[in-house]
This record gives sequence, structure tokens and C-alpha cells, in this order.
Amino acid sequence: MIIVLKRDVSDAQIQHIMDSVRGWNLTPNLSRGTERSIIGVIGDEAAVRVKPLEAFAGVESVMPVLKPYKLASADFHADRTQITIPPVRSGDKPVTIGGPEIVVMAGPCAVENREMLLELAAFLKENGATMLRGGAFKPRSSPYAFQGLGVEGLRYLAEERTVIGLPVITEVMDTRDVEMVAEVADVLQVGARNMQNFNLLKAIGRCEKPVMIKRGLSSTLEELLMSAEYVLSEGNPNVILCERGIRTFEKFTRNTLDLSAVPVLKRESHLPVVVDPSHGVGHWDLVIPMARAAVAAGADGLMIEVHPKPEEAFSDGPQTLIPRNFRNMMKDVERIAKAMGRSV
Ligand code: PEP
Ligand code: MN
Repeated sequence: MIIVLKRDVSDAQIQHIMDSVRGWNLTPNLSRGTERSIIGVIGDEAAVRVKPLEAFAGVESVMPVLKPYKLASADFHADRTQITIPPVRSGDKPVTIGGPEIVVMAGPCAVENREMLLELAAFLKENGATMLRGGAFKPRSSPYAFQGLGVEGLRYLAEERTVIGLPVITEVMDTRDVEMVAEVADVLQVGARNMQNFNLLKAIGRCEKPVMIKRGLSSTLEELLMSAEYVLSEGNPNVILCERGIRTFEKFTRNTLDLSAVPVLKRESHLPVVVDPSHGVGHWDLVIPMARAAVAAGADGLMIEVHPKPEEAFSDGPQTLIPRNFRNMMKDVERIAKAMGRSV
């Protein structure tokens, strides 16, 4: 930590800062310059971070030297994290997220009914999807909008696992539901709106289920990594990061899909990175180009909304691919994955 002092800082103020730093069992090193003086603080940076240094008279700014995330950081992890989901049915292949294969999580925005879910899952499996997505608990902006089938939706997802065999990723919104959702889900999903629900993150951190954390609508990548840190610091190492678009002033798209998040997160962290172009752009015709771009940018996986009749979907119809377009997308993604030395 470096404390930059004000131009007109007094000796008494410097002394007070130095004494306080020593009082926290850290070592201050004063360096007097002609223009500016600084104090370098040596010791556990996490301990200094929580101190209100900027509140001290004479302090202009405080610059951390280390990153606030440790367990999520690539600096503290020799290898990239790979998360293996065992096959749901014997004879099927396990799914590895963060390995050479690109994982495709596809399915409806929400679980709407049993028949559609099973039929669609069979199609998706046949056409290269590696996981089924579908919300049973839906975080909707309006309390009057469809909130998901809840426990009934979980039952259909559980049935899909036994009948079709695609592993399931589904959202958990409430700490009280973590255990129940984890009984069905192969990967828990923390939605964008819950990215900073710290109690939920801690509860998920105490179970072993892999979790995919979606970037908040107005969250920085550092904040996303800190959310991952919450789960990791509770003991769950199986965290996947997901870029799903952020709020900007642009109106042609629902959100702005920040694809630079992919190389940044992969540089900063060892955790797998998935891109959700469906929520990222909000219009089905933009989903395929952005899915291609995500794979080209180095994403470890894609999350794609698919519905047999998007015009009748209970939620997010406009951004949802019909099955035929999903199949077309897979052909493109396969070619790009190959060019990147990967496969789907
Ligand atoms: C979803 O994937 O079902 C979803 C609600 O997305 P987000 O949390 O990114 O809005
Ligand atoms: Mn959706």
C-alpha cells in the first residue's frame, strides 16, 4: 500500500499517520520528495485495506499494490481451474468446464412445462449442447411477470436428467433454497441481479456444487472477481465466471456484451469464463455473431437461450433462438473453436 501525502502535509500529520500504521503492526517507510512525499506500508495489505487511511489529515490518496482478490487471482494458482461434472447417466461423457472443449449451456429462459423441456433437451443434446439451462426460480424486474414454476420446475429438470441425461444449470435466488436446488442442479447459477448477494454467495461457498456467477448489470470485473472470492473463501473451489452484458447508453442492444471481459478475466483469474450472448444483446439475430466472437475471444463456454416457439415464451422470447438456428450456431462455433485449437 502506498500513501500519497498532500503537498502541504505537516510534520505532525506525517507523524500521526506513521504512528497509526505502526499501531496496526505494519511498517511505514517515509520517502520525502521535492514535490511530494509518500509513505510505503509494508505488511499484510488486507489489514491496511480496511483502515480509513483517506480520512487522515494530510493524506491525498491511497494506492493498493496488491489485488483485493487472492483465491480468484491467477497469481496464486499455478494451473487454470477445470471443473468436471460427472455424467448424469452411465455411458455419457463427463463435462469439463475450463478444459479444451467449449461447453454449450442451452435451453429456455424459464422451465415452462415438462413436455417442451424434455423435447427441447433431447434436440439440444443431439445437436451438441453439453448442458441444459432453464430457470425454475426467475429473477424478474416486474413482480407481475412470470416468476418461474419453482419446485415444479426443479422436478422437470430432475426428470430431464434421468430421461435425457443433459446435466443441468439453474438459478438459485435464495439462501434457503441452496440445498434444494443443489439436489437437482449440476451447476448452480447466481444471476446478474444477485451477483452481490453476499449471503447467497457464502451459502453456496459452503456447498461443493459448482457455481456460475453472472456479472451484475452495473458491476466491474473486479467486483465480479470479488464475488467469486466470496464463494472460494468459504471453501468451494468450483466457480465459473459469466459475462452477460452490462448497462450502457446504447439502445440497439438490451445490454452491451463486454467481450473484453473474456481476455481480462482469463488474465486476472484461473477460473473458467462463460459468455451469455442472449442476455448480452437481447435480440436473437445478434446472438449468433456474438457467440462466434465469444469463442474467438477465448471463452470456455456459451450460455444460449433456445425455445421451440420464442413468440410464445414466458420470458425473453426476443433474444431466444429457435432450434434450427441453434443448430446453425453450433456449426459456426465448431469451426471457430477448431481455429482456436479447441472443440465443442
Ligand atoms: C438467466 O440466465 O436466466 C438470467 C436471468 O440471466 P441474468 O441473471 O444474466 O439476467
Ligand atoms: Mn432469460
